[in-house]
Amino acid sequence: MLKIQNYINGEYLSPVADRWIDNYNPSNGVVYSQIPNSGREDVSKAYEAAKIAFPKWSNTTLEERSRILSKIAQLITDKLPELAAAESKDNGKPLKLATAVDIPRGSANFQFFANAITQFASEAHESVGLSAMNFTLRQPIGVVGCISPWNLPLYLFTWKIAPAIAAGNCVVAKPSEVTPMTAYLLGEICTEAGLPPGVLNIVHGLGTTTGQAIVEHPDIKAISFTGGTKTGAHIARVAAPMFKKLSLELGGKNPNLIFADSNYEDMLRTTVRSSFANQGQICLCGSRIFVEASIYEQFKKDFIEKVSELKVGNPFDNETNIGALVSKSHLEKVKSYIDNAEDYGGEVIFGGNKVSLDGFEDGYYLQPTVIEVTDNQCVLNQEEIFGPVVTIMSFETEEEVLAMANDVSYGLSATLWTNDLQRTMRLSKQLQSGIVWVNTWLLRDLRTPFGGAKASGVGREGGFEALRFFTEPKNICIKYD
Ligand code: NAD
Repeated sequence: MLKIQNYINGEYLSPVADRWIDNYNPSNGVVYSQIPNSGREDVSKAYEAAKIAFPKWSNTTLEERSRILSKIAQLITDKLPELAAAESKDNGKPLKLATAVDIPRGSANFQFFANAITQFASEAHESVGLSAMNFTLRQPIGVVGCISPWNLPLYLFTWKIAPAIAAGNCVVAKPSEVTPMTAYLLGEICTEAGLPPGVLNIVHGLGTTTGQAIVEHPDIKAISFTGGTKTGAHIARVAAPMFKKLSLELGGKNPNLIFADSNYEDMLRTTVRSSFANQGQICLCGSRIFVEASIYEQFKKDFIEKVSELKVGNPFDNETNIGALVSKSHLEKVKSYIDNAEDYGGEVIFGGNKVSLDGFEDGYYLQPTVIEVTDNQCVLNQEEIFGPVVTIMSFETEEEVLAMANDVSYGLSATLWTNDLQRTMRLSKQLQSGIVWVNTWLLRDLRTPFGGAKASGVGREGGFEALRFFTEPKNICIKYD
């Protein structure tokens, strides 16, 4: 059986304590690899390698860093079929999604920051009348920690690593224990691209052991974390007494506000995608659908018809729209919301059942599920389910839907469907959300800030925001007279 290894100081290594975790293929429920359950000693090794690499890497010219990042981007593109297959097998997502979105985005992340770092300039301020000139140096932090989740494995792992190393830091990174494969393959890509040993170190293992050891390490000065809100709160508690810099990208319960004046066909097609892409396991999925009363019944009928056309199947089948959920425990968690729908305030109006596929009977498949609710305060509209489950309900007025959209602890993204410009501006300004999409969903320009409000996180990634996070500003004030 394949034994995935840590990537430390440019070498693949087994965990010091020789502890391993089984890794399952969600499409058939079979263990197909093992990953290290790294402990403090592995994290220390990774940290020491990063610390040694830092002085040289932080003084490497921007052009050279940029060249290496571009090379990593190119190699990811060259190995797209292999990486996409690994991602799909590890995560259960349709191969065509990994091929079209996840892996190209992994490459784009490196290419974007390869370019961005060469444009990331210091600011200067003249103190007029005081004969002083200030300029702000942006220095790399040192050794930083990057911890990522399982839903978009390479996509989100590289979204952190690329800006961190572009800015001159050295990294100790941990992918999710349930989707380690592409992070594992990234090690050899980095070596092949000429990334110096120690600049990127990848340790595998459980959150409570490996992840916790990274967060607790006193000399890892910043943590960029993407994952669940509870985990984010825990990390904040652990990191606060050490005054670590934190970027937390957390959960969501994103509203979809659909007005009668929207472009109906486009809205319908996109809403199916924003509900069920990646089995609904994207933090940005629009899991609460609010529809203006005048089109509610029509929408309900058409939406269910379109959802019924989605094919649940083997992720490697090109016809598949909905693959497997990531793990058995996650499937059970999502299913329990469906099974308790009545108590949790809703009625299942489509789907709701596990799916048994011929030859893949032990895979983690679930029908896309639509639940009708009447009260936004119900459990189904307040808790993040993170699966192929959406709720729908109707609204009468703009004020009412705005209040419901905001009446939730999360604030990651909101999607607005309307052709009324005044309404667009009124609502966009008032939605408590890090991102508002208007008449589109998941359109991402990598230069723009990304992140959540309220329980969806602290800080922003994307564009120069990420480079700001991974650098410390230092003002230098020179009196010249
Ligand atoms: P999770 O919080 O369980 O795990 C995320 C990562 O943190 C994993 O690598 C895990 O091993 C690690 N971890 C767990 N406990 C830890 C600890 N005590 N110390 C340090 N690290 C620890 O989340 P998940 O189930 O992997 O991912 C799903 C969640 O991620 C959802 O809530 C989803 O909304 C969120 N998410 C958010 C974004 C975003 O950009 N806001 C993007 C994707 C996913």
